[in-house]
Amino acid sequence: MDIILLGPPGAGKGTQAHRLVEHHGMRQLSTGDMLRGAVSTGTPVGLKAKAIMDRGDLVSDDIVSELIDAELTAMGPATGAIFDGYPRTEAQAQMLDGILEKHGRKLDHVIELEVDEDALVERITGRFTCANCGAGYHDKFNKPETPGVCDRCGSTEFKRRPDDTEETVRKRMGLYRAETAPILPGYEARGIVNRVDGMAAIEEVTHAIDCILAD
Ligand SMILES: [Zn+2]
Repeated sequence: MDIILLGPPGAGKGTQAHRLVEHHGMRQLSTGDMLRGAVSTGTPVGLKAKAIMDRGDLVSDDIVSELIDAELTAMGPATGAIFDGYPRTEAQAQMLDGILEKHGRKLDHVIELEVDEDALVERITGRFTCANCGAGYHDKFNKPETPGVCDRCGSTEFKRRPDDTEETVRKRMGLYRAETAPILPGYEARGIVNRVDGMAAIEEVTHAIDCILAD
């Protein structure tokens, strides 16, 4: 089973990918991680990539294809792949099809964790943590029992992440849409795009993904 997992920041993609790895023994193939891994272990493609990056150039699609090819060979046919952050263009999507075919595999599902943008803004801009013990709170969904006092340690100091602003959330959503727009139509046409409500509870999202994989 090979899938692409898509979802904007805040949709819980990392959590769900981690669960797929834990529960189904799948392997998450993130191009950034593969690249760093290949460079640090000094594989032939890693050395090639390092030379390109040392020149300050961007790693080409061919290099990324080589990385995926090597990774699939190392994984073997029994392990499913979760593609993360790749492909980003129609050309890369076609390349991915070619690589998978070479390994006797195919892309089974594109799973997109959908979010309601306004609800995501509310979820992210409302969160804050205790500056002392790190306990997590939310202005609306998870307030301290006594306003201004941490339930866990009694501290009255709290902090917010500076990038948890509406502007940042909406900008990230815009970037996400721009990134996925080139590849979604092609996969839609093949009827392999499945959408899951990323705003649901973590367990529910996991269950929905499991149902898609079992289909
Ligand atoms: Zn605390």
